[in-house]
Amino acid sequence: MMIHARAQGVTKHFGGTVALHGVDLEVRAGELVGLLGPNGAGKSTLVGLLTGSRRPSGGRVELCGGDPRDPRNRRTLGVTPQETGLPASLRVGEVVDFVRAHFPNPIAKAELLDRFGLGDLARRQTGGLSGGQKRRLAVALAFAGRPEIVFLDEPTTGLDVGARRDLWEAIRTFHADGGTVVLTSHYLEEIEALARRVVVLANGRVLADDSVESVRGLVGLRRISLTSPVPLTDLDLDGLVSVERAGDRLHLLTPDADRMVRALVERNVPFRDLEVRPTSLEEAFLTLTGKEQR
Ligand code: ADP
Repeated sequence: MMIHARAQGVTKHFGGTVALHGVDLEVRAGELVGLLGPNGAGKSTLVGLLTGSRRPSGGRVELCGGDPRDPRNRRTLGVTPQETGLPASLRVGEVVDFVRAHFPNPIAKAELLDRFGLGDLARRQTGGLSGGQKRRLAVALAFAGRPEIVFLDEPTTGLDVGARRDLWEAIRTFHADGGTVVLTSHYLEEIEALARRVVVLANGRVLADDSVESVRGLVGLRRISLTSPVPLTDLDLDGLVSVERAGDRLHLLTPDADRMVRALVERNVPFRDLEVRPTSLEEAFLTLTGKEQR
């Protein structure tokens, strides 16, 4: 199977900041891969390197078998532009035409507008669009040239539920027709909706490259809070990732809250005021990376 994008031992420094430390990644043609990580993990930097907008400080990047900066390897590439770069006085339809003009076999304007729910906005100046509308336009532009591989950086941030669903549908259609997709998100739910393979980035390193199911076990942690006098050392439970006491409240992190609550009951651990809630990805990563360092 052809490798569409590849990073080998890639590092990237910005002055004193090390954004990526030796990242390896292979994306095969026709794959849909989610890059998951909290803010600052290095997702955008990696996408920038793979799409040729930045150069690595070390290691190798390849797009379609060659240098991502070489136009020959970029012919089948689609990327979302920075929304801040959309010319404010141009109309949506004009921006679409402008981008289409760069490609030999672009998708028809009406079809592109329709696929991304932009039909009604074609005559609006981009400067007057809402954040969500700009985001939809930016994502649509990635598809203007009938790409074979698209890189979508946080494609649905700021979109309402309906617009997010529509966009997911457009991405699925592209993928079902054989397109390769790399998308970044800091929501597991978004990646789960689209991808089966998830690459987890944290602090510039690949923490996991696995199925959504496995990654959910790693980062999809639940926080169980309860009031209990039981000493922490008595809580040697399967699946307990971390435990802390704050006054008379105990906070337990685990990938499987149901199982943990059953175990507490079976062991006759006294408790009241039980609460279960999802942790944010940031919390999950703090716990995971903290554990690694200990
Ligand atoms: P993510 O997309 O996962 O939020 P980024 O790739 O944007 O992460 O950032 C990774 C790290 O590199 C962060 O610490 C960020 O502050 C830093 N960084 C990214 N771009 C630049 C830049 N142009 N100049 C300096 N630091 C940068």
